Amino acid sequence: MLVVRAVEDIPEQGIKKDDRFQFYVVDAHHHMGKEKGHRNSPSGAYDFYALLWFELQRMVKDQLEGDLLLFEPIEVVPPELPSRLFSSRASWARMNHGWLVDRTIVFPYTDDYSKSDSPDTPSFRVSNDKIAGWTTRAPHSTRLIGFGRVDPKDSLSGSPDRPVKEIKRAVKVLGLRGLKLHPLAQLFVDEIDSDYMRKIMKCAGDLGIPVIMDTRNTRTVLRIQDLVNSMRGSKKYEKTLTQLSIILAHCGMSPGDPRLYEVLRDPVFYGETSTLHGKDVPILFQMAHERMGAPGVQWSEKLLFGTDYSFLSVQAAEIILHLISRDFKGTLGDIQRIIGGNALTLAQTPFRTDNGVKRQPKTVVYEKCEPTVTQELEESIISLLNNGWNMSSLDLMIPPRHTWPNIQSLERGGYNGIHLDSYVMTLHPKNGGTEFHVWVRMNPAGLLSCTVLGTKGTLVLDTAEFAAQRLGQELSEKIRADARPMRTPQELASSVLDMLS
Ligand SMILES: [Zn+2]
Repeated sequence: MLVVRAVEDIPEQGIKKDDRFQFYVVDAHHHMGKEKGHRNSPSGAYDFYALLWFELQRMVKDQLEGDLLLFEPIEVVPPELPSRLFSSRASWARMNHGWLVDRTIVFPYTDDYSKSDSPDTPSFRVSNDKIAGWTTRAPHSTRLIGFGRVDPKDSLSGSPDRPVKEIKRAVKVLGLRGLKLHPLAQLFVDEIDSDYMRKIMKCAGDLGIPVIMDTRNTRTVLRIQDLVNSMRGSKKYEKTLTQLSIILAHCGMSPGDPRLYEVLRDPVFYGETSTLHGKDVPILFQMAHERMGAPGVQWSEKLLFGTDYSFLSVQAAEIILHLISRDFKGTLGDIQRIIGGNALTLAQTPFRTDNGVKRQPKTVVYEKCEPTVTQELEESIISLLNNGWNMSSLDLMIPPRHTWPNIQSLERGGYNGIHLDSYVMTLHPKNGGTEFHVWVRMNPAGLLSCTVLGTKGTLVLDTAEFAAQRLGQELSEKIRADARPMRTPQELASSVLDMLS
């Protein structure tokens, strides 16, 4: 998390000089694997973020001298639970750094091994396996969110359903949570508005996963819009379109083009900021603010921070510096949405695969919970990881869509929308046992509740959004009726372990 300090009073936002704020940062565009000279893995990502912080600090000096910044970056602090998990084992502790970025959406390169060698095997199969291997195992599963990749043109040779089958496998078997498509690299720029692409979009929308699509220019953006428009008005795609989100990667290639913002006003579309640099940085945010600031349209919900590492490197620092500069027209809440909130809203449905069972939820509660009690519970769950269990994901709870708050100063608690003390962990025994959700939440009155749920059937957790109304009625009643009060931290920790067995 990035901590910044106000360099002066900002009365219109109720901010005093020296008030500090912390942003939870998500990189929505990051490659892992191997493509010619490029090679990256989780530890490479964390090293890169450490370098990015170094670069940011270097650039800050000049910017402060020129009086360009409204907030000064002062430090990087890790979110407590993921960082504690990293430090729980010597071989992981080496990677407990680079916390300028807290969570990363990761997908394959056009890897050296992405080409299929038979008409039945989809392209990117090995690449997707590798992404899942990195992103769904502790400790990296607490920092990385994996997206799969396919070659849509696989539809034109071999079995026509290859891409769709691979998307389903990536999501349901591997636990990947989104899809990356690259029209230039996979040579379908001229066929974006095609039947095989409609099939792929239907598949993604029906699965409820976001699609990030590489765009090099406005022409590509408009073709993607044509594709979506061609699906409108048809019964077949009605449900698909209510769930489909398309993130336009490198959306700021021509930030002065008003047509980009017309597309971004469409509820399906979002834009990601990598490749933006120099004078184009303020233009994108200014134009977005002007063109999408109409009542009812929250312009800052439509842009996502991304780095495109390792194709691009520290130029992402320019975006962060612009967001905290005098030129940026938004609020701290706008910054938090752009720099991390929007990506979580799109990609962070609680992790699950087909490896779940129906199961009655069980709940324990602990009143007047002190931080030491939560820590004891977390320690005992972390210790499971040394005893035959894996954590496939750690999803912090976030506000429901369109309700992201303005953020509080650290002096007032530092709440920035991310619930650092309320989260969903996906756990499963490494010997192939089924997966569970362990859902821990803290209410403002200090009531901790911990529910262990199955990941199939009707009594499951469908969202990481922290809101009672987003829970199924049956599930909330069940939790309320069955909750057992715990008297000591030890009893709490051991009951949670019992509920997992
Ligand atoms: Zn990329």
